[in-house]
Amino acid sequence: MRAVVFLFLSALLSSACMASPPQDAPPHHTADGFRNDPPIEQNTLADFLRWQWNRLWKGIPALESYDFALAENDPAALRANREKTTLTWIGHATVLLQVDGKNILTDPHFSQRAAPVQWAGPKRALPPGLSLEELPHIDLVVISHNHYDALDAGSIERLAARPGGRQTLFVVPLGLKSWFADRGIQNVVELDWWQEARTDVLSVTAVPVQHWSKRSLFSKNETLWAGFSIRSAGFNFLFAGDSGYAPHHFREIGARLGPFDLAAIPIGAYAPRWFMAKHHVNPEEALRIHRDVRARRSVAIHWGTFILTDEPLDEPPMRLRQARENLGLPARAFEVLQHGETIFL
Ligand code: ZN
Repeated sequence: MRAVVFLFLSALLSSACMASPPQDAPPHHTADGFRNDPPIEQNTLADFLRWQWNRLWKGIPALESYDFALAENDPAALRANREKTTLTWIGHATVLLQVDGKNILTDPHFSQRAAPVQWAGPKRALPPGLSLEELPHIDLVVISHNHYDALDAGSIERLAARPGGRQTLFVVPLGLKSWFADRGIQNVVELDWWQEARTDVLSVTAVPVQHWSKRSLFSKNETLWAGFSIRSAGFNFLFAGDSGYAPHHFREIGARLGPFDLAAIPIGAYAPRWFMAKHHVNPEEALRIHRDVRARRSVAIHWGTFILTDEPLDEPPMRLRQARENLGLPARAFEVLQHGETIFL
């Protein structure tokens, strides 16, 4: 909680000093860093205090009141796999995608807390569905933005320190390369929205989403936020990152890069709506994203792992199921996996 308070208070004190962008820069580049396109109104300190006050007054269920269980999986088979396309939900926004013999991680988080320090801040409801040691060699990591639940220093440092870790390619939004360089990690490609990076097998495109960034007291929106399309010869995947519902972005993603064989879409961290809606979708909006981007199949991420907001940690899947049934979609169209569950595609 202290870390969250610290982050939000500091948001209001930050004053970025950055050079003016060139005149032909895209609208999301500004003299004060990056912004959403179109711009969205920022929450104020008064908004933040009102949220915190309501939260204290009303109370939210404790982490101990949930009994999530890890699914059984087969780490040895995943390590040996070169042929099958699989996805394993490790927890929160972390998935292991295996496609065309390549192993890809999204927003890797294997630490105990989503916070600047490991002695305070939101704690894990249960261990990662695969431990970092159980992972196969990782070829590619994509990072959606610099918030502590998406960019975890401990996990990145441990990934880079594994045997072969120096060969892992990190694809990140603009402004984050220096964070990796500070840790001695050089195999990093920074992308602006719609820019593409290619490996021998994969094509990775950063796509716009509606969010923000902040990591320290005096920084705000100095680094960009993004989702990623990851395409191989036979498979098209979308990692939607962390976003409010921005139909113009998602329809454009669908039109330019869809349809997707599979999309990983956030469903949690949405309450209270008056404070969170700009930056986090709810399950009903997640379903709209599934349609907007033209996903044949989707899996839920960004829920059930850290208490970041006010809805019960186990509420998002129930709301997603209801919304899916209202639309007459089969369960398989937008699936909620258990932590650690592997699906074969
Ligand atoms: Zn975030």
